[in-house]
Amino acid sequence: MKFFIQSRNDDLSNELMDRAKTYLSDFGLEWNEESPDIVLSIGGDGTLLHAFHRYREQLATVAFVGIHTGHLGFYADWKPAEIEKLVISIAKKEFEVIQYPLLEATIHYRNDDQTKYLALNESTIKSPDVTLVMDVELNGTHFERFRGDGLCMSTPSGSTAYNKALGGAVIHPSLDAMQLTEMASINNRVFRTVGAPLVLPAHHTCVLKPVKAPDFMVTVDHVQLLHKDVKSIEYRVAKEKVRFARFRPFPFWTRVHDSFIDSDV
Ligand code: NAP
Repeated sequence: MKFFIQSRNDDLSNELMDRAKTYLSDFGLEWNEESPDIVLSIGGDGTLLHAFHRYREQLATVAFVGIHTGHLGFYADWKPAEIEKLVISIAKKEFEVIQYPLLEATIHYRNDDQTKYLALNESTIKSPDVTLVMDVELNGTHFERFRGDGLCMSTPSGSTAYNKALGGAVIHPSLDAMQLTEMASINNRVFRTVGAPLVLPAHHTCVLKPVKAPDFMVTVDHVQLLHKDVKSIEYRVAKEKVRFARFRPFPFWTRVHDSFIDSDV
């Protein structure tokens, strides 16, 4: 089996990376950055986002596992003290693979070009001006004209990240869905939005169309880019999934409890 380790690059993460690399090599596993079977991410959820984007073209063959060197994460749910146990399980291939849904974002430009992105957490749209104004279409039908700070479309596993801070629901990652949340919508007698998060199933599409200026700040997870001359932004649940190597049961709701309510981790 071939492995790669993505570190957050702090002292503790690098020290754990060196240890894990030595142990796994001693077990006969091959360090292979180009086409690993398993990618260990050592740091936090942010580190796993970086690892995901590094291997986004190889999602069908790569399985991810996260070790946290800060607080418990949703993707990084192994403790540093468990590194030996984890390495032995990887070496003995004692794991199953679980798959989580992803978000596909397609940006269509006025010149008919398009760019496609995959998000593990979410994609957000903001305007470089003060207020974002966009028409929201659901399955080809006009739904609302949004005015406000921005919009966020998240995956189920990203629902505990930015989405949660925006008042979105926490969604179990076994559901093939995406969730649209508002950032400070303007709501008065003139302007009106639904004012609630929308959870869309896998066969639905959400298209955002500019009303005024065609330039937008678009984020895909930790990456933010300015897109100019945008005709529309289309969101759907992606065909691709992300694969996580699971070595022991750690139910999603236990992770939610331990991350947001209390934990001895
Ligand atoms: P960052 O600002 O360094 O990290 C943002 C925080 O989000 C970190 O504490 C990170 O955990 C946590 N996080 C990431 N994915 C998560 C998930 N699925 N569930 C729960 N928490 C999660 O930025 P970054 O490391 O580059 O990560 C980009 C992410 O930041 C975006 O995908 C977005 O979700 C999030 N974000 C959140 C807000 C907000 O909550 N108001 C605003 C902007 C962006 P770790 O410390 O374990 O890495």
